[in-house]
Amino acid sequence: MRLRNKPWADDFMRDNGHIVVQEPFQYRGKWQSAFNKEQPIHLEIGSGKGQFIAGMGKQHPEVNFIGVERVKSVIVGALKKVIDSEAANVRLLNEDAQDLRDLFQSNEVDHIYLNFSDPWPKSRHEKRRLTYPAFLDQYKDVLKQEGEITLKTDNRGFFEYSVASFSKYGMIIEELSLDLHDLNDPLNVETEYEEKFSEKGQPIYRCKARFQE
Ligand code: SAH
Repeated sequence: MRLRNKPWADDFMRDNGHIVVQEPFQYRGKWQSAFNKEQPIHLEIGSGKGQFIAGMGKQHPEVNFIGVERVKSVIVGALKKVIDSEAANVRLLNEDAQDLRDLFQSNEVDHIYLNFSDPWPKSRHEKRRLTYPAFLDQYKDVLKQEGEITLKTDNRGFFEYSVASFSKYGMIIEELSLDLHDLNDPLNVETEYEEKFSEKGQPIYRCKARFQE
């Protein structure tokens, strides 16, 4: 399938405006009104083709999920999965999560997922890593006090950087796994990248952390 320049992508997203929120900045501070039920909000940054968020939506009807993905040709894949899953508790935003504070008010989010984020391995690109302290400032702001971040990656360097970054920031590391699939966590929902890398025998790293009060 050709992923670039999908001319039908805009129509497809607009036709499914109940899932792909059309003017997301207007919902700042009132995200609950974008859902059928008022319940905790879990946010995924860089949802890709949506296997995780669609699977989580189905597994956790007691949660409202928001997936942010900046690439249009990718998010339409997520939209298809969310439609197929029939989960009514998932919303997608075709936005760049450059500053989450533009999209969310303080304490609006209960959980943030960073799944297989771009590792930006060169040190001159450190500021682009989604676990760079300036991003942690944003997460701290939009998350509730007891809110958590869960990070999964196959990239050892990015994992080590992220755990160190959380720790230096004074966050509490609640869980750390150097081989997630060895845990056989029955609730783990695989992402596309996770499936691809673990099939190649690559260990998957996971870390859960939260800010201190
Ligand atoms: N989470 C998916 C995709 C991982 S690839 C999986 O695990 O399979 C990383 C994704 O994050 C890409 O689709 C990229 O477009 C998206 N992304 C990176 N930075 C982003 C940002 N600032 N805002 C929104 N999406 C972003």
